[in-house]
Amino acid sequence: MWKDSGYNKCNRHQTKRKLSMSSFSDLIGAPRYQTIVRGGDMTIANVRVRAVLPPLPKPLQTASGQLTHAPVLLIDLEMSSGIVGVSYLFSPRQDMLKPMIEIIDALVASVNGLPCDPVAVLGHFERQFLLFGGTGLVTMARAAIDMAMWDAIAKSRGEPLYQVLGGTSDPIKAYESSGLGLSNAAQVAEEALSFVNRGFDTMKVRLGYPTIDVDELVLDAVRGAVGDDIGLMVDYNQALAFEQALDRCKALERFRLIWIEEPLHASDLEGAAKLARQIGTPIQLGENLFSQYEVDRAISLQSSRYLMPDVMKIGGATSWLVAANRA
Ligand SMILES: [Mg+2]
Repeated sequence: MWKDSGYNKCNRHQTKRKLSMSSFSDLIGAPRYQTIVRGGDMTIANVRVRAVLPPLPKPLQTASGQLTHAPVLLIDLEMSSGIVGVSYLFSPRQDMLKPMIEIIDALVASVNGLPCDPVAVLGHFERQFLLFGGTGLVTMARAAIDMAMWDAIAKSRGEPLYQVLGGTSDPIKAYESSGLGLSNAAQVAEEALSFVNRGFDTMKVRLGYPTIDVDELVLDAVRGAVGDDIGLMVDYNQALAFEQALDRCKALERFRLIWIEEPLHASDLEGAAKLARQIGTPIQLGENLFSQYEVDRAISLQSSRYLMPDVMKIGGATSWLVAANRA
């Protein structure tokens, strides 16, 4: 029933076309990109970063830990024109906020006075910060600046960003993902039912309980509560070793899941590819891939049926669009 879920699929047979970061402008049309960037006539002037710690409505327990608050940085990137582009970063740990602020400050200092041109700035960061590698805090800080630049460009044009990028405002399929954390089966089932009552027809359940039996118990309880017409996917948050993952993914086939997300460590793309060949349920990966190059590697290894790059971890809207195009 869920075989054709309507979610974007990673086409396994179209990985040959080359698309580098520098050809991003080809993605939305080079002349169009030049008009977008030059039309703004802005240079990067200043940045202000604030840390905030809003509590979650309900703590979320996943296989990778408990989250009670959402440590977030709010970024205001000021342009020479006075326009302020805004963005935010989410940090899974509060104690990483301070070093992230300092990295953003250092990165912005290195591009101070340069035009607000996301592709050119991305190239600058790739050259100037090459020796820090493509992962972690530097990439997240780059994403903050990239997203704020795009916001400033959209504001300078008086258009929403999706329109600037050539998108449309057609409705897209969405799923509820704010809860269904590790808990007891009855509680998870009750929360799942509350999502159905709020109008969701698709939702994601966190798994990674100590045994496969408990994983199945929770899914049985959820399926029993919401009925057969509700779409379910699950997220292991990188919790399993390969053999464990193989056993559990096979045992979950009977639930007809839309996807199984990150069963293995996110960097184990070879393991994911091996797993994908042995199970029927689609694997979902991508939210912990930190560069276009990792996305390319996942695609060429055929590590997953679906890809969901995270706009922050992939390095911003520019890199996200390149990754999405590759997928
Ligand atoms: Mg996930």
